[in-house]
Amino acid sequence: MVNLTINGIQFQAETGLTILQAARTQGIYIPTLCHDERLVAHGACRICVVEVKGARALMPSCSTPAAEGMVIETQSPTVVEARKEILRLMIENHPLDCLTCEKSGNCTLQNLCYEYDIKEGGFNGKKKNYPIDDSNPFFTYDPNKCILCGRCVRVDNELQCTGAINFIERGFNTHVGVAGDREFDNSVCVSCGNCVSVCPVGALMQKQPEKFRYWDIEKVRTTCSYCGVGCQMDLLVKNNKVVGVEPVDMEPNNGLLCVKGKFGYKFLNHPDRLRTPLIRKDGVLKEASWDEAMNLIASKIKDFKKESGPEAFGALSSARCTNEENYLMQKLFRAVIGTNNVDHCARL
Ligand code: SF4
Ligand code: SF4
Ligand code: SF4
Repeated sequence: MVNLTINGIQFQAETGLTILQAARTQGIYIPTLCHDERLVAHGACRICVVEVKGARALMPSCSTPAAEGMVIETQSPTVVEARKEILRLMIENHPLDCLTCEKSGNCTLQNLCYEYDIKEGGFNGKKKNYPIDDSNPFFTYDPNKCILCGRCVRVDNELQCTGAINFIERGFNTHVGVAGDREFDNSVCVSCGNCVSVCPVGALMQKQPEKFRYWDIEKVRTTCSYCGVGCQMDLLVKNNKVVGVEPVDMEPNNGLLCVKGKFGYKFLNHPDRLRTPLIRKDGVLKEASWDEAMNLIASKIKDFKKESGPEAFGALSSARCTNEENYLMQKLFRAVIGTNNVDHCARL
């Protein structure tokens, strides 16, 4: 353990934590932009700087180890002024079109500018002017809104491990792009959308089936139904319609999704989706109640079992069902119908 004092609070923290992690154990807030607990600390945005007594400069708390006896201030006038200057530099060449930007209400840059009362850069410097990359079917990339936090690059390289994007060029011309500075659809990108999920501003944005403001939506926690991994996700619901998906940072997916979980939700609202059972009557499929359908299935099973025996049956279950549903399916066929002809769609 190391003894620390942060904002006058004395406490012990585990050895090996950064100042940011140690502060969080005490509920002490330090703003971050480029930081993501799952990624190697980057120290790029500097918004998390703190004052460490005796140090020659302000230290980025996300990448500075907490050491024995440190006395730290996270909100001193020097720290606050440094953060304001960082925000001014960031928005100096930022489009600031919050009025129409779909990230508004869920944008860390916007929130920090509000918190630190920053409206403009005031340096009268150059502006970025990149074309917007609209080539991916699921998301857009607007390099003009990018603040170069590197979260997308690191999630793509460290967690998704596709290596599709990286920083290109240097200095003022630095931007995120795919190999050869081409468009996303001309790269090895697999459209998982994990870079979109971590972007703290409106640079990487999902293409929205319909416009929504973040404060219009309700989040509904659910389990992805595409495969057996069981990724946790929040459905973004507006007026009872799913308009987006966000991964949840917990087991088993720890804030990641694949392309299906992240972007494959439009079937949920599709008008062709079956909403009731259908029973074929005189060659035509007609809507039926669940009771009617279940009774018909049960009577057909009984008749067929009498006629052909239990081995005439087979059950194929699904990776898109829960463990419990799969368990019940095999139990029904083994114990009630009397056959071991049970298999699973993942082995087809
Ligand atoms: S990315 Fe954030 S700060 Fe920039 S325009 Fe959009 S909402 Fe405003
Ligand atoms: S969508 Fe996935 S694969 Fe493509 S750049 Fe982003 S993180 Fe990498
Ligand atoms: S695109 Fe978004 S996540 Fe990537 S570096 Fe720019 S601001 Fe950060």
